[in-house]
Amino acid sequence: MHPLICFQAMTCSIPLNGWAAGLRTFRWHAGIEFFQQFDNAEILDADVDVDARVEKSGHYIGVDLEVRGSVTVACDRCLEDLTLPVEVRPSFSVKSGASVSSGGEGKEGEREILLLDEADADLDLGQVIYDYVCLSLPMQRVHPDGACNPDTVRFLSLGPGNEEAVENSPFAALKGLFDDNNN
Ligand SMILES: [Zn+2]
Repeated sequence: MHPLICFQAMTCSIPLNGWAAGLRTFRWHAGIEFFQQFDNAEILDADVDVDARVEKSGHYIGVDLEVRGSVTVACDRCLEDLTLPVEVRPSFSVKSGASVSSGGEGKEGEREILLLDEADADLDLGQVIYDYVCLSLPMQRVHPDGACNPDTVRFLSLGPGNEEAVENSPFAALKGLFDDNNN
């Protein structure tokens, strides 16, 4: 069993023809280059391992993925690097276009259905892996309380309506001046 590693092209494809029924495993590493090819500017760094377990039996092809590692994004609160863990295990049934009667994509039991163009001899899982990693990230991406860069947080929090900013503004002195004139 020889894992296929796609460090350079970062196309995580599985050749479906040329092997008989049985189980094969593949392993890829998705670094930042992988995410850059999808023009994702949010992900600043990545270290993700992908294990694929592919079972072929007659016309049936099942794919079980295990995607684990971490990605680095900017913290919503302090904008410093924030490393988030990634762990998703999606499973798929692969169907060729001709064998799907109607409906197209959907679910079959616990498995998502992946449609495969029949002319396509390889199953490219790059987009699927990318989508699952992105969907696994939380909506709000912030460091745990107290772990943000205090300087950046303070700077970003200064603005109109901020008590501290008003105290330090030149208009604070003017306010006192007008009060005196009224007396
Ligand atoms: Zn932060």
